[in-house]
Amino acid sequence: MPVLIFIDISDGHVKKASLEALTYGAKVAEQIGTTAEAVVLGTVRDDLTSLGKYGVKKIHHAANESLNHLDAQVFSNVITQVAEAIGANVIIFSNNVDGKAIAPRLSVRLKAGLVSGAVALPDTSNGFVVKKNVFSGKAFANVSVNTDVKIIALNPNAYKIITGEGVAEVIPFTANVDAAKVKVINTIRASGEVPLTEAEIVVSGGRGLKGPENWKIVEDLAHVLHAALACSRPVADAHWRPHNEHVGQTGIAIAPNLYIAIGISGAIQHLAGVNRSKVIVVINKDPEAPFFKAADYGIVGDAFEVVPKFTEAIKKLKGVA
Ligand SMILES: Cc1cc2nc3c(=O)[nH]c(=O)nc-3n(C[C@H](O)[C@H](O)[C@H](O)COP(=O)(O)OP(=O)(O)OC[C@H]3O[C@@H](n4cnc5c(N)ncnc54)[C@H](O)[C@@H]3O)c2cc1C
Repeated sequence: MPVLIFIDISDGHVKKASLEALTYGAKVAEQIGTTAEAVVLGTVRDDLTSLGKYGVKKIHHAANESLNHLDAQVFSNVITQVAEAIGANVIIFSNNVDGKAIAPRLSVRLKAGLVSGAVALPDTSNGFVVKKNVFSGKAFANVSVNTDVKIIALNPNAYKIITGEGVAEVIPFTANVDAAKVKVINTIRASGEVPLTEAEIVVSGGRGLKGPENWKIVEDLAHVLHAALACSRPVADAHWRPHNEHVGQTGIAIAPNLYIAIGISGAIQHLAGVNRSKVIVVINKDPEAPFFKAADYGIVGDAFEVVPKFTEAIKKLKGVA
């Protein structure tokens, strides 16, 4: 009974979060003495066979064009068909936007226990216990999954991508695709050079920047670092920045390798969305700002002086004009 991993696609390309899920799923398969297989839906532009290097042996591809847009009900139905056809009893998702929409529906269809927000491999020494984040990343819980079919949604950036050797066999899957109950009329891409949820580096601004007219210094730093832009909630509420950049408890939760917070106080609701970042750098003129307690590196100073110098120093380091 193989482990089944859902491969998430954006514009025909495999998302980074899926590479983490593939690596993780292959390791789970190894741990429980089985093989890793994957499922992908819709049109794919990447070479799927090359995903074998993440440890997956077979990829079931339902290439139906009507699966090019996410419809969680339709997707969960097709993944159920694949899971039942191959007899998968562990199914892995990334706990990203798509995974959060599909995994709970799949869990209902398959009567499967679901652990969302997993941060480590399951402990299979006595049952099947998965460690997950709780309370907005403030604590961990070990959850024992007792159902025959188990679903794990892995937190983005919680598991390192490992590449090895191997070529995956791609197997076309003929799915019974339901007529969608909702129809995507058009898709408007959020602005920004790098998508926030996929970004390795995020540069974020808060109310300390005083107004939208001052965002150039944040954008320049983000540009030179090839980073995504983010902001605190009051900044989005005041329409200084679009709401899709708002991070935190009520915004997007991110886990980049580097998070640079400029003029953000570090309220608990903000930290809830960014505290899984690997390295946090805080720039704030108030040495008592709470964010410094969560920071790996801190610069006490006026953002309007510090940030342009920071950008210039990085440009020099990278040898760009
Ligand atoms: C239910 C609920 C949910 C919430 N959800 C979220 C959420 O998801 N995300 C979120 O961000 N907030 C959220 N909030 C709001 C949160 O509590 C804070 O009010 C908010 O994060 C503060 O934003 P800020 O740090 O940008 O602004 P402020 O708290 O005003 O902080 C501005 C900071 O900038 C510094 N500063 C000022 N001038 C400069 C300068 N020239 N150079 C450098 N630093 C300077 C100041 O010292 C200060 O630390 C939520 C609140 C509630 C009640």
